[in-house]
Amino acid sequence: MIYDIEFETMPREALEAIQLRRLQATLERVYATVPFYRKSFDDANIRPSQIKSLQDLRRLPFTTKQDLRDSYPYNMFAAPMDNIVRIHASSGTTGKPTVVGYTARDIDTWARLMARSLRAGGASPRDIIHNAYGYGLFTGGLGVHYGAEKLGASVIPVSGGNTKRQIVIMRDFKPTILTATPSYTLHLAEVAEEMGISFKDLSFKFGIFGAEPWSERMREEIERKLNITAVDIYGLSEVIGPGVAIECHEAKKGLHVFEDHFIPEIINPQTGEVLSYGQTGELVFTSLTKEAFPVIRYRTRDITSLNPEPCICGRTLVRMNRITGRSDDMLIIRGVNVFPSQIESVLMEMEGVEPHYQLVVDRKENLDVLMVKVELGEKQFSDKVSNLQELEKAISKNIKEYLGVSARVKLVEPKSIARSEGKAIRVIDNRKL
Ligand SMILES: [Zn+2]
Repeated sequence: MIYDIEFETMPREALEAIQLRRLQATLERVYATVPFYRKSFDDANIRPSQIKSLQDLRRLPFTTKQDLRDSYPYNMFAAPMDNIVRIHASSGTTGKPTVVGYTARDIDTWARLMARSLRAGGASPRDIIHNAYGYGLFTGGLGVHYGAEKLGASVIPVSGGNTKRQIVIMRDFKPTILTATPSYTLHLAEVAEEMGISFKDLSFKFGIFGAEPWSERMREEIERKLNITAVDIYGLSEVIGPGVAIECHEAKKGLHVFEDHFIPEIINPQTGEVLSYGQTGELVFTSLTKEAFPVIRYRTRDITSLNPEPCICGRTLVRMNRITGRSDDMLIIRGVNVFPSQIESVLMEMEGVEPHYQLVVDRKENLDVLMVKVELGEKQFSDKVSNLQELEKAISKNIKEYLGVSARVKLVEPKSIARSEGKAIRVIDNRKL
């Protein structure tokens, strides 16, 4: 079932005509109202009126996370504060957060996009959605919330944390859809088990997971443990929040980008060159309908590729492949690029290890040293020491084989790696560079 049948199944030509019209209006808007964009277009010696085709988009300069930070808190807003009805912010691990605003129309647009997303992920007005994304400045919780209401589903605004109480609610309220980060979902499953409750006995049918990169193997693990169909959702507050792209539950093979609202591009992160369909690089977005916080060629740092092939669900929207990492999360270990998600894929191939891991990077005598801490299952933990040493060796060998880096593997006790109630902390980089 498709929520916005007209826009989600539009022929390419009609879609591109809408994109161009909306792009031109957005450029006029930002040039007139946001000093940052006026200056950046002037510096590049280009006027909005010179953008006459979608191809011309690449003539415009990029916008970076740092540009947004430099505009802290409100200097990128393209609408007067009288018209702003909501403010969100994304936490940065370094520096100031990025602050984003929404007009009433933006909130409505976002709710529609989330209604589309939830529908694509299997939800209908009959469903009860257990929303374990955090409510607050983070866009996850409220994004799902408004979308669920727009769709006409029932939403339980449980937010993150209070894990035991969540399990009781899941048992008693009988929600049919779970929305959460994948790492928190695994934690929920673990706590349920400790409480003697099996997810298999709960009422869940679908799960919509995102806000952090996760692997195909992690999907299999979640689907098996929860006995559900799991889909990947993508978004970021700078672009609108969740609801920029979603996998359809029919194909579960890449996320449809809502191209009538956002134009995706893939670029070479080093040179800025625009890459073609199928090539892997950094994902860049231009918003087409936002009023308060339009973004022009915003560099997400997320690494993926685009797939224009038709999909069995009937949507004509291009699909972005699963995010394989972030260009700023990418670890360079002795010159080799490594993404945490690649290590995750290797780990999930191994019998007896749990999907809880941490990468610790140190620099010893000028050499990068990668240690992979990975949790054992209860059964393996009581195994003979020699068997565990074998397992460590086998994991290390696979990492070397698949990724080309040497890693020391350290098996740790079940449940000894800290659980997160939001996004998991996968990398500890102790190198002082
Ligand atoms: Zn599809």
